[in-house]
Amino acid sequence: MESVDVAVLGSGASGLTAALAAHGQGASVLVCEKGEQLGGTSAWSGGMIWIPNNPHMRAAGIEDSREDALTYLSSLSHDLIDPALAEAFVDHGPEMVQWLEASTPVQFQLVPEFPDYHPEFPGGKPGGGRSLECPLFSYDELGEHKHRVTVGHNYGTAPITMEESHLGRAVPVQVTADERVRRAERDDRGCGQALIGRLFKGCIDRGIEIRTQCRALELVVDSGRVRGVRMLGPDGPFEVKVRGGVVLATGGFEWNRDLVRAFLRGPMTSPVSVPTNEGDGLTMCMRIGAALGNMREAWWMPAVEAPGGPDGRPQIHLFAAERARPRSVMVNRYGRRFTNEAANYNAFGAAFHEQDVARFDYPNLPCWFVFDQKHLDAYGFIDSAPGAPAANWVTKAASLRELAVRVGIDPDGLQSTVARWNQMAARGVDADFHRGESAHDTWWGDPQVKGCPQATLGALDTGPFYAVEVKSGALGTKGGPRTDGVGRVLHVDGDVIDGLYAAGNVMASAMGMTYGGAGGTLAPGMVFGFLGGRDAARRSRQDSA
Ligand SMILES: Cc1cc2nc3c(=O)[nH]c(=O)nc-3n(C[C@H](O)[C@H](O)[C@H](O)COP(=O)(O)OP(=O)(O)OC[C@H]3O[C@@H](n4cnc5c(N)ncnc54)[C@H](O)[C@@H]3O)c2cc1C
Repeated sequence: MESVDVAVLGSGASGLTAALAAHGQGASVLVCEKGEQLGGTSAWSGGMIWIPNNPHMRAAGIEDSREDALTYLSSLSHDLIDPALAEAFVDHGPEMVQWLEASTPVQFQLVPEFPDYHPEFPGGKPGGGRSLECPLFSYDELGEHKHRVTVGHNYGTAPITMEESHLGRAVPVQVTADERVRRAERDDRGCGQALIGRLFKGCIDRGIEIRTQCRALELVVDSGRVRGVRMLGPDGPFEVKVRGGVVLATGGFEWNRDLVRAFLRGPMTSPVSVPTNEGDGLTMCMRIGAALGNMREAWWMPAVEAPGGPDGRPQIHLFAAERARPRSVMVNRYGRRFTNEAANYNAFGAAFHEQDVARFDYPNLPCWFVFDQKHLDAYGFIDSAPGAPAANWVTKAASLRELAVRVGIDPDGLQSTVARWNQMAARGVDADFHRGESAHDTWWGDPQVKGCPQATLGALDTGPFYAVEVKSGALGTKGGPRTDGVGRVLHVDGDVIDGLYAAGNVMASAMGMTYGGAGGTLAPGMVFGFLGGRDAARRSRQDSA
């Protein structure tokens, strides 16, 4: 039977960081990935990581401290954040960045001025600094392995960093035509592709094998200690024995309908992650008595479903920056606004889960994004570039009344909501939901006027008008096995389950219901991968000594 020091299950950023960290401690490592390609949702992502007090902030003279970071997280906790995990994340994040930069091809740079997601809370950073990303990475460096990384539809293989996008800067760095050609020739990729490409290159350099189409099914436990994993590979079942430990990095359970219904606190119909994230790690842990935590939470994300997805299914788009732009509102079936449309996507989940206790329903689902012609001309919409017509799946009508009738919104409600919104926009104050008061809202709005209320406030007064239904989605779930501060999984009876670690969306998140800032999900995943991988390797060394 095959045996290694450390087996890592799942090849997203959490899993690959665990593999590198374990190898850095001298361990032999095998990574098993269920999908046909590697990288998971991490490879589809924006690739930003949120690391308070990071070395790049210090180098740029931006102040931060352990105390500020912990104050910030605790101010958002609602008693759901385990202080020991928050401390482990804040204490070891900068160390993980330094170790990856010194020991692997992974490098980071600031995404300049990107505000935290609740920047006005105590310890928050309205001027940014905690969000990092990788510089572009040439996929030519992966040689024969370059096609092994999965590519998502939101960011694709774009040769652009966040810093060069409207999200990252008020005035994005201009890329010359010559430079664009060079980037295409080198197959340079940014965002999550750069992050996973660099982590993957680190694995290749170290000879770490990543076996795709290998689904972990069951943990092998002997005398209370995890000693191996049963897998299903392309050639049938096989078993891997481990000396140090197993690191679970199998992502969340967002694609498993039964688990979603069993655990999440409210409706979530449109996950945007890789569909192989079906909660396998969670069920493997439940089977051996792991303690669970944070089960009702996800990284919530409003989503828009367009035609053209795989196997006749819809293509699910994140719906983030669009909501923050002027000349738009979101309304429920009564035609009423129900929240600050420009709020961060994770916090927005709470607006979807609000209940009307008299009617005993979710009044804000379904809901619609409504915008006018000037919005479309200025910003485009999903697949339509600015100035282009809207796609034919977007409902269009000459008047707000007609639009409302077509999609099923109360027309009187919509008309009076838009009339009130237009008055408030003219005054520059959203007296109802405070849109535009936070540095967050004005950063995500119109890139030309970043930082001003006008970046997000603006009247809907120029027909035709448009509407699209917005769904309750998620980047991934964030509940699972509880761990200690080094990522060791805990048993329901309180002890550590010897030889078992968890990192990323499979684990009970160190962030509770919170999303600290851009990069708030990948960062804790990678930090706990780093800690767990390292500890599993040490464990294996101790045993063989
Ligand atoms: C478009 C988009 C943009 C985003 N941008 C950002 C961003 O900029 N910053 C940020 O912090 N977050 C971002 N996110 C969210 C982020 O991508 C995820 O939260 C993160 O990738 C989760 O990492 P993970 O390692 O836990 O899981 P994943 O990266 O999803 O990896 C889990 C892997 O485990 C595999 N697996 C599942 N079951 C098994 C099994 N039984 N055996 C073996 N393998 C298994 C899966 O196939 C998958 O490859 C974004 C998400 C999307 C979709």
